[in-house]
Amino acid sequence: MTKTEADKPTRASELFSSPTTDVILLSLDGVAFSAHRVFLMEASPVFREMLSTLQPGAEHESRSLPSLDLSEIEEIVDGLLRWIYPCPNKPATDTWELLESYFEAAWKYRVDVAITALQERLNVFVHRAKSKSTPVRAYGLCLWLRDTCGLDAPDLLTLARKSIIRTDTNLLQMDAVTLKRLTAMDVVNLTNAQAAYRRRVDRILSFPKSWTFSYRCSQHTSKEDRMPPWWRAFRSHLLTKAKNRTAQDPLFSSSFLASWTELVTCLDCRGQLTCAESEFRRMDKELLVLWETGTGGDLVCWEIKKAV
Ligand SMILES: [Zn+2]
Repeated sequence: MTKTEADKPTRASELFSSPTTDVILLSLDGVAFSAHRVFLMEASPVFREMLSTLQPGAEHESRSLPSLDLSEIEEIVDGLLRWIYPCPNKPATDTWELLESYFEAAWKYRVDVAITALQERLNVFVHRAKSKSTPVRAYGLCLWLRDTCGLDAPDLLTLARKSIIRTDTNLLQMDAVTLKRLTAMDVVNLTNAQAAYRRRVDRILSFPKSWTFSYRCSQHTSKEDRMPPWWRAFRSHLLTKAKNRTAQDPLFSSSFLASWTELVTCLDCRGQLTCAESEFRRMDKELLVLWETGTGGDLVCWEIKKAV
């Protein structure tokens, strides 16, 4: 194929420009990387194959070296080469975009050293999830790695799944980039598990039928409505707290109970709240079991249902 002026490399990579090299890698955006066949062939069976069939005629004009046209941009080619070469400064993968692009390239060329480094990086991303979209992207990436690359990371997949289900992350409101590796079935499955988890939280935090108070306030609690006046607002606050927490901290901390006790001005009603502490501890314990095991009745949230 004859190269036009526009196809020529616009510049050479600074880091990969040694005069001892014997092949040129051309990035999609026209940057020439001078490389050593022996490094490429050792690190990647795909490069080995490509270089073994490289036509001697396809030469890079300025250096008279054979060249390979790659479909990755400069940043990605540079990153791959840093992993392949014994460079001290390995690529920084601090965004999802980079992490995913590197993963795709590393997998395409089967550069094991890069794949291993990226898996470690993904692990850090999932464990330090800062936004609600992180677990969703991680989940999709783990599924892609498992189904396309055969690189199964069940612990990471489960962790990402738990993080999505335990919070009120609304998958249907996430952007297309975040959801790009999830199928409609994945989204349905996650949304259903999330709803089941939420129903279970709702049930644990419901007003117990057997709940009797020694300090039942006759002024504020009628026979028809057995619930104390503070209960509804209290519960709604707890539900929000339960759905938004990212760590299993106790819902009914002593500071939380103290602040609510202060809000209840009627002394009898306040007595009800104080007497209910053992019930609150029971609720916290049940929530903890749900958080850890994901088991809510028949539903096992943490299990990934296989498509039939
Ligand atoms: Zn009262």
